Amino acid sequence: MLLNTNNTQINIKCQQYSCSRFRFEKDNTELWLEFQSTQETTEVCCQYCGERSVDIHDNYTTTLIDMPIWTDIRQYITVTYHKYKCRSCSRVFNEDICFKDPDARVTDRAAIWVQALLKYGLCISSVVRLTGINWKAANLIHKRVMDEALTSRKQYLKAIGYKPTYLAVDEFAIHKGQKYATCVMDLDTGEVIWVGKGRATEDFRKFFLEYDMENLSDVKAFAMDMNASYNKLVEEYMPGVDIVYDRYHMQAQFGKEVLGVVRLNEARKHRDNAQDIKEILVGETDPDIRRKWKQEYKEERKKYSDIKNSRWPILTSHSNLNDDKKEALDRILKEHNDIAVCYAMKEELCRLFDLDDPGEAREGWISWFEAAKASRIEPLKHFAELKEKRLEGLIAHSVHHISTGKLEGLNNKIKVAKRVGYGYRDDDYFFTLVRYISIPKNYMIIPQKF
Ligand SMILES: [Zn+2]
Repeated sequence: MLLNTNNTQINIKCQQYSCSRFRFEKDNTELWLEFQSTQETTEVCCQYCGERSVDIHDNYTTTLIDMPIWTDIRQYITVTYHKYKCRSCSRVFNEDICFKDPDARVTDRAAIWVQALLKYGLCISSVVRLTGINWKAANLIHKRVMDEALTSRKQYLKAIGYKPTYLAVDEFAIHKGQKYATCVMDLDTGEVIWVGKGRATEDFRKFFLEYDMENLSDVKAFAMDMNASYNKLVEEYMPGVDIVYDRYHMQAQFGKEVLGVVRLNEARKHRDNAQDIKEILVGETDPDIRRKWKQEYKEERKKYSDIKNSRWPILTSHSNLNDDKKEALDRILKEHNDIAVCYAMKEELCRLFDLDDPGEAREGWISWFEAAKASRIEPLKHFAELKEKRLEGLIAHSVHHISTGKLEGLNNKIKVAKRVGYGYRDDDYFFTLVRYISIPKNYMIIPQKF
């Protein structure tokens, strides 16, 4: 059939549909096959009452995208089908199109091709270009493939009696920080078990309402960022489950809100000193005194820029620094009491997270908070006052060494997924994709770049 555009005759039959006409359009870039229903009303039973008493009520034509025979020639099928009306029950129904995909406006065989192309590694944009199938239909087919994989994974886990013991919850941005989603991960398998729109407490409540809680009866602990109010809902719906605050969120926040602020305060002092000296120099004529002040000015500017540039050395672990950086950092710490105190508090904070004895952890955290509050360094005091309320969740880290780190790792995969499909415009598709990329690879049809 259709060996070339000249002198070709076709006669295709598929059940009650027959096609004997085709046409090329748009400078031979589109091929249209025209199918007509040849079904006799005497062959049709009413869908509703089963009586063989229908009339043709109307005729409709629909367009389906088909798998192209040639590259760069898109292939469409128009199908003219009947709408029947039953004389017996007066209801109206459409004639079935046996070669149409149940969800998308594509032929069955095109859908099978799309699934296969995705399976063999083509990304969705290539599939769209090659087949002429639109994004919406390609995403729909892809979603179906993913849903099947997720269902079969779920059935497997259920069959072996698997239940998660450690969970983590965190938010992630969908559109460059404009839109957020909340994600729950099983930390043992690394699988995302739930994704929901939004990041407010009430958005997270949907997890407890939608998810099969029976499956969570073995959960021991839940890791989370202490800035969100996730803990309240875990306490409400999963009493007895330990809340563990994520160390990386807390360390990062300490770095930004305490060390960062104190460091910039000190830097600013040197910058202001330099400015003052500059003003003195304007009125000073004695060359000796001028030289002395100029020297002083240079030193203040240097201290200013040293502190400004010390962000990374202060935040990172001392053992990661080379000798030059170590020396520069030690000099800053020696000359600036506030920075030195906060730096020591950071080191202690990291040590406390490494403990695995809850008694020792409790004692350690209590002294840490006491010392911070007694320090008279405002950002440090403020930080301690806020975090002290979360004491139990900090101590719990010594019993359950879990964090939301694995969930952050998924963030990179999500970023790639966003580039692969335009599907993130559709939340339902995108959330399925997030869960799909977290299940073991043997369940997956993996589009390129995943
Ligand atoms: Zn009927």
